Amino acid sequence: MKNIEKYFLLICLITSFISCQTQNNANKKMMNNAKQDNPIYSTTDTNKIVLKEEEWKKILSAEQYFIAREKGTEKPGSSKFNDFNELGTYYCAACGNELFKSDAKFKSSCGWPSFFEPIKKGSIIYTPDYSHGMNRTEVQCGRCKAHLGHVFEDGPPPTGLRYCINGAIIDFEKK
Ligand SMILES: [Zn+2]
Repeated sequence: MKNIEKYFLLICLITSFISCQTQNNANKKMMNNAKQDNPIYSTTDTNKIVLKEEEWKKILSAEQYFIAREKGTEKPGSSKFNDFNELGTYYCAACGNELFKSDAKFKSSCGWPSFFEPIKKGSIIYTPDYSHGMNRTEVQCGRCKAHLGHVFEDGPPPTGLRYCINGAIIDFEKK
């Protein structure tokens, strides 16, 4: 190989390495900004959160906004938390409020992550929901009132309850 060809090859390698690094940095930056763009997110602050809808729109992803603020439901079976058995704690993805411990999670065939009890009283708000011609109990985050899902009375012992939760509106932190 002539010297000029070697030189050219070296330049190509360096250029592709640099562009790869730049891409990585851009990805990292995006992830950090996701938390930075949510000034109310805290796993320790228990003060109630009341925000205007346009403020929630800036903080949440489109899917999270649809679930949390418009009482939407994610597609059954779509959550990464359906078949997920890591030990740790689940938080509200909108505000960081502690919601469930992994030891209250159980395998349910309903298509959504399911728990038999919340982490503590007050971490969840219960509201009757008569929409869609049904009589259900809606569960919302006790700190920011994000819609999480519903609770049904067909769960396993010891509570007999099934908290049927949209996976897109919960965060998980490993123990
Ligand atoms: Zn919340």
